[in-house]
Amino acid sequence: MSNTTLNQKTKSNSPSEEDLTRWDRDHHLHPWAGVEGVGKDEYMRVNTGEGIYLWDSTGKRYIDGPGGMWCVQIGYGREEMAKAIAEQTMQMPYASPWSFTSEPAAVLARKLTEMAPGDLNTVHFTTGGSTAVDTALRAVQFMNNRLGRPEKKIILSREKAYHGSTYLASTMTGKERFKTQFDKADDLVHFLPDINPYGRPKGMSLEDWCDAKLADMEAAIAEVGADKIAAFIAEPILCSGGIIVPPPGYHKRTLDLCHKHDILYISDEVVTGFGRMGHWFASEPVFDIVPDIITCAKGLTSGYIPLGACILSDSVVDRMRGSSENDTFYNGYTYSGHPVGCAAALKNIEIMEREDILGHVQRITPYFQGRLRAIGEKFDIVGDARGMGLLGCLECRPELSDETYAAHLQFGNKLDAACEEMGLLLRPFGNMAVFSPPLIMTEAQIDEMFDIMEAGLEKLSAEYA
Ligand code: PLP
Repeated sequence: MSNTTLNQKTKSNSPSEEDLTRWDRDHHLHPWAGVEGVGKDEYMRVNTGEGIYLWDSTGKRYIDGPGGMWCVQIGYGREEMAKAIAEQTMQMPYASPWSFTSEPAAVLARKLTEMAPGDLNTVHFTTGGSTAVDTALRAVQFMNNRLGRPEKKIILSREKAYHGSTYLASTMTGKERFKTQFDKADDLVHFLPDINPYGRPKGMSLEDWCDAKLADMEAAIAEVGADKIAAFIAEPILCSGGIIVPPPGYHKRTLDLCHKHDILYISDEVVTGFGRMGHWFASEPVFDIVPDIITCAKGLTSGYIPLGACILSDSVVDRMRGSSENDTFYNGYTYSGHPVGCAAALKNIEIMEREDILGHVQRITPYFQGRLRAIGEKFDIVGDARGMGLLGCLECRPELSDETYAAHLQFGNKLDAACEEMGLLLRPFGNMAVFSPPLIMTEAQIDEMFDIMEAGLEKLSAEYA
């Protein structure tokens, strides 16, 4: 069949815009969406992307403020990525992880351990972030069971943390709706109180707030018992919780406390990894810690294809080892170490290295954060404008909650809607709007993004006044 005939055939068989809208609305239960929405909600259909921009099915262009879901580091439309994915698919599209490995998996495993700090020298590949977190938690369980201390199994997590949607990862998620809508392994988790400095008592210094958060952790260890606590899991910055940046010194001090009590430290770098903070991983260069386990996904392939990884330290792996009969780590996925996913990750890393994207992020971060803070100063409805690296959050001033609580909670949606009209997408979370644009953003594009955000806030300020 000639190309022309094929195109005509495809075209004549292509569903209409109306069909697509109807089929998606009537048959697609979207993730994190109301079940009531099936049969009602119509989603924006994105058709193409280039750099930091997306185009919807009507041809309207948007800046992708959330960078996909905190993942499209190198931007859209990279032909090199498409080529690497196609080439690997032709060469070897799948290799059963039960029996085989592949060249991309071997090269990527070594590469990740070079990027990771300290003695994190062993990689277990997964299908995404949730399964990377599950793997980390199961590795810890496995280790303690092997060591003959099965009672050491509780994980310390934190209010507002997000660690994924699988059973174990969602058990560790400290968001109310995750806690109440599903059954969870409650006996495996203990939550520490919110660490958001924005919520600290008026007049309290950040140092005192950090002391208070350490005291929370010490109290939890005393209450639960160090002999029962296996690990602490922490995002370097709580992202889905609203870009909560911990007080200075927090991670170092919590890690020291964990190690004092023989508690492992799992750093969930699913969002903060792969350049978001100007480094491959934020743990060591930004927060001065070498965790026992790092989990990553998202930016690992810039979202072009699903892949995740759990990177384990030598000391954990050594303690997972047993006699030859009983040291099988029965954890894995049909798509573990998927050759196409690993090839995409390697090309993504190659692009980031060649274009010095880490250096670029380090150079533009002060400008990005400067414009973000200026918004906090300028708009009365913004209570807190916070962030780090190329992560930002605007939180509505809480005083609005007294009289107009509904409006307060609608802040994220309203700001997103106002900005969307002007060509900028944000990610609304109740009284907050967050953003994490592709890392290739230029200074001019940062201005374009914040100018629209300011125009959106002008509109909302008039409405909220
Ligand atoms: N961990 C963190 C910190 C995340 O932000 C996410 C997703 O947003 C996950 C884990 C889960 O990743 P995934 O959606 O790829 O399963």
